[in-house]
Amino acid sequence: MTTTIIGYPRIGAHRELKFATQHYFKQRLSAAELQATAQQLRLANWQTIKRAGIDQVPTGDFSFFDTTLDTAFLLNIVPKRYQALNLPLLDEYFALARGYQGPAGDVKALSMKKWFNTNYHYLVPEFDQDTQIKVRDWQLFAQFQEAKAAGINARPSLVGPYTLLRLSRFLAGRQAADFADALAAAYTEIIARLRAAGAQWIQLDEPALVFDQSVADQALFKQLYTPILAQKGQAKILLQTYFGDVTDSYQNLTTLPFDGLGLDFIEGQANLALLTRQGFPKDRVLFAGVVNGKNIWRTNYDKTLALLAQLDEVAADVVLSTSTSLLHVPYTTKNEPQIDPAELRYLAFAEEKLTELRELDAARHAKRETPALLANRHLFATPRYVEDPAINAKIAALKPADYQRLPARKTRLAIQAKEFHLPLLPTTTIGSFPQTAAVRKNRAEFRKGKITAEAYTAFNHKEMRRWLKIQEDLGLDVLVHGEFERNDMVEYFGEQLKGFRFTANGWVQSYGTRGVKPPIIWGDVVRTHPITVAEAVYAQRQTTKPVKGMLTGPVTILNWSFPREDVSPQLSTEQIALALQGEVLDLEQHGIKIIQIDEPALRENLPLRKKDWHRKYLDWAVPAFRLVGAKVQPTTQIHTHMCYSEFGDIIEAIDALDADVISFEAARADMTLLDVLHDVHFETHVGPGVYDIHSPRVPAKAEIVKIIHEILRRIPKENVWINPDCGLKTREEPETVASLRNMVQATKQVREEL
Ligand code: GLN
Ligand code: ZN
Repeated sequence: MTTTIIGYPRIGAHRELKFATQHYFKQRLSAAELQATAQQLRLANWQTIKRAGIDQVPTGDFSFFDTTLDTAFLLNIVPKRYQALNLPLLDEYFALARGYQGPAGDVKALSMKKWFNTNYHYLVPEFDQDTQIKVRDWQLFAQFQEAKAAGINARPSLVGPYTLLRLSRFLAGRQAADFADALAAAYTEIIARLRAAGAQWIQLDEPALVFDQSVADQALFKQLYTPILAQKGQAKILLQTYFGDVTDSYQNLTTLPFDGLGLDFIEGQANLALLTRQGFPKDRVLFAGVVNGKNIWRTNYDKTLALLAQLDEVAADVVLSTSTSLLHVPYTTKNEPQIDPAELRYLAFAEEKLTELRELDAARHAKRETPALLANRHLFATPRYVEDPAINAKIAALKPADYQRLPARKTRLAIQAKEFHLPLLPTTTIGSFPQTAAVRKNRAEFRKGKITAEAYTAFNHKEMRRWLKIQEDLGLDVLVHGEFERNDMVEYFGEQLKGFRFTANGWVQSYGTRGVKPPIIWGDVVRTHPITVAEAVYAQRQTTKPVKGMLTGPVTILNWSFPREDVSPQLSTEQIALALQGEVLDLEQHGIKIIQIDEPALRENLPLRKKDWHRKYLDWAVPAFRLVGAKVQPTTQIHTHMCYSEFGDIIEAIDALDADVISFEAARADMTLLDVLHDVHFETHVGPGVYDIHSPRVPAKAEIVKIIHEILRRIPKENVWINPDCGLKTREEPETVASLRNMVQATKQVREEL
């Protein structure tokens, strides 16, 4: 074996899995039909990987929603409330993933979090006093059998016990260590069953090893793996890490008898030093992540071969692999006919990365330079784009004052209170309204030239007027235009700015059935014309209530795009920030008084190790955000929005964004962030989402009243806004209106009590 990968995308090159699953949800497809689609997709993947010449193929990476959930489900880590529904296995699984409201009962989904530093989300397993770990029949075994039957050299993979525990929630006073022995026994059983079924290698994904490891963490890791490895028998265990280096656990990893170690040499730069300084056990296989699993640029073969030469000096058996699962990149560049072939040469998606692995492996063993190596060298010697000297000069000239909004926030907030006369607990939404089939069709037809610009705009105007009326009727205080012109909050801006490239089919899974199509930051980014002004102005003209201008922030645009590798993320982000600053000032000049700059991805690229948080990220990301709004009048209110609530640990940085108002997710999480906000004296006004928009479930008014009380117990009422967790684009209209009605009514009830 000389080549492998960690995992492959599973949604289908044309998102077949998404569509089949959604049809299943709407009962237009049977469970058997959904399973058949899934099987076809798996088979197609395996054949692609095998045909590309990859020696060993991971299985178990397929999922109907999320592989962390699959692992929890396999291990029966399913809270009672879901088991009590008594649904067929597949439906129970989906109940955990997206909640369930129907004849069998009413439960919310498990909470969902970002998967390390990516835009992929995993479901957070929940352990409590009732958790009975046992191995059930779910996916893993059947997928392996299926691959074997198809003649694939398969390596079953699943999330390892340590990462599973590190990512889970523990309720009722339970903690991770309480479950370690039972988990070790269950993994031992899984390994034995897979081994009996014919698996030689088994891959356990332990990306949690790239976080900072405390002494207790390391003890837990040992407690889990000592028995597993002692009882693994003939099975070979690949301990797979990614997203960073394993500095804190390298000692553990090399002393425990793993058969293979999978290390990331792209994001985990420090792994190389670990190996060269501390050596690598001669009897282990090094699975070297040398082809970037997260970005879409071609690999520079010369550089990679030099790295491999260094690894070969230390390790006896090096298998070429990707740095992460290829889950994070699109399927193939073959489906991108609209990109200029001269540019397409610079890109490698999942399928092309398979070829890269094979070519690198060939070049590594060849006596002389292979044609593939020569072609790659030539490509990297050919400039990809023409630089924009003006924008880079502007950035070089930025001074500290350019990042500082005046007057100070407290003063501004007082001025704004007089400006807007909003009631206590002002209600608003996050921006988007349902992207119905008609809304998407309007955009698609305009794009294809099937309808005129006038017809396109007329439709959007009508939809805007309809939703502005709905918002007014519901009694919302600050309105939004609804974002009907936007396919995606990042792609939309990318398309209007200079310097981006777009794919037609470059979908990447974000969560469950939701995909994103990240733009590619190709060159220097510049704003050449107004982007959102026309829609904002049109919407504002329809109502006397304030309508929020709606922008995607610079850090999010960067983090949800495929970034350049030839310049720093800081430089790219500052270019985008300057472009957005122009847009903000334009909106203000056109009478838009509240401007929301969404930064749902701010937290995402926070380095996984604390020591790097500021120096490597926040020290430039926070200023980049500030740059966007730094020049507006004190009467203009700047909002921001984040889709999660895990920022208790960077709370000062969030306050330092210097926004006037921030909305974030709260309904799906517990109230810990609100406790933190209370304790640190957070100055930014806050709109903790009062209901979860990721599920079609309609929250009852009483439920929302209760949440508002929870909020008011911790935060001064003058500082609180009421809004949903996030935008409503993925929801259907009836549930959206019903939920918002309950939200506004709940707010009114609480206001009366105040
Ligand atoms: N304004 C965006 C929307 O409402 C925000 C989306 C997001 O935070 N992901 O859809
Ligand atoms: Zn959001």
